[in-house]
Amino acid sequence: MKGFYADFHVHSRYSRGTSKTLDLSQLASWAEIKGITVLGCGDFTHPLWFACLKNELRESAQGLFALKTASRGVLFMLSSELSLIYKKKDRVRKIHLLILASSLAAVERINSSLGRRFNLKSDGRPILGISARDLSAQILDIDEQALVIPAHIWTPWFSLLGSRSGFDSLEECFEDYSPHIHAVETGLSADPPMLASVSSLRRLTFLSNSDAHSAGNLGREANELECDLSYAGIVQAIRSGRISRTIEFFPEGGKYHYDGHRKCAVSLSPAAAEKTNCLCPVCGKPLTLGVLHRVHELSDREGKTRVPFVYQIPLKQILAQMLKCGETAQKVERYFRSLIEHFGSEFHLLQQATIEEISKNDEPLAAAIQAMRENRVSRIPGYDGIYGKIALDLKHNQ
Ligand SMILES: [Zn+2]
Ligand SMILES: [Zn+2]
Repeated sequence: MKGFYADFHVHSRYSRGTSKTLDLSQLASWAEIKGITVLGCGDFTHPLWFACLKNELRESAQGLFALKTASRGVLFMLSSELSLIYKKKDRVRKIHLLILASSLAAVERINSSLGRRFNLKSDGRPILGISARDLSAQILDIDEQALVIPAHIWTPWFSLLGSRSGFDSLEECFEDYSPHIHAVETGLSADPPMLASVSSLRRLTFLSNSDAHSAGNLGREANELECDLSYAGIVQAIRSGRISRTIEFFPEGGKYHYDGHRKCAVSLSPAAAEKTNCLCPVCGKPLTLGVLHRVHELSDREGKTRVPFVYQIPLKQILAQMLKCGETAQKVERYFRSLIEHFGSEFHLLQQATIEEISKNDEPLAAAIQAMRENRVSRIPGYDGIYGKIALDLKHNQ
């Protein structure tokens, strides 16, 4: 592989629901284990995290930053996720946006400008009462090299096209700033063809990121790029759609693929949900309509994609299935570490190594990875905040 892997959307220990030990060196060492070259630093709007960025990083390539303590390794890109909550046309909208910025000086200006009106200290992903259109204007006015990327665009509660939070099109949300939006994030519960089936998204670049709240989840989704290793090079590749490939979660494995009601353990396909008028058949409350439902509502064409993509299952999940135990078991951990030592990184093993090469070391693992690469899996879709279950079809090989 000539290119490199990038994961732009992650969080720090200052975001709610993350581990309190999640610091830059932990992110960097996990990025190396995964095989990620460019990693979003996450949460740059948080004052304490921004202080860490300034203290612990040095600019290594133009607009990309390495740990001062490391001679080589991962390059951080300045990124942050913002949670916008505002009223438009009599409805409350809740939308998450991923921001990429070109320099520490630009971040300093973005933070002081946002900090005058909003509280940036309470959460690494701060809540701002401003429209997506006005926020984009404010950010791009400060840093014209910045990118505003609607995050996980289909999820029900906090996204551009979400059933409970968003709009029906990019234009309805961003108005005159729509032409300044060049990319959107697929989210775990959706894959690129689902986005490509909506005309208004066709011109955009589809990015896939992990949105990791713990370092072990880095690279659940990722982007393969072949471009100049600099901020400008990456932004140019995103703007012009020159992504080599994206690595995708099986969309059924995400938390919001199907419709459902978590409390009643009710999970329904969009067609089945329509039959109950989108009400829970157990308790009668409105169902949380998932990603697939919204795709059915908004799609108006065949979902042909320009950029190739592959589905991937995290290595520890594969090992847990092979060993018939939980992902956090000690024997999974030991197996995982020995494989990383042998193959260099998780992405190298899952995406680059040939089946013959893996077979020489470990035949059952080679069979499992072959099943993954051929999409031979069973799928129980996630719904209303509950992860789906993806299991490899291993019998086929035995
Ligand atoms: Zn989010
Ligand atoms: Zn219910």
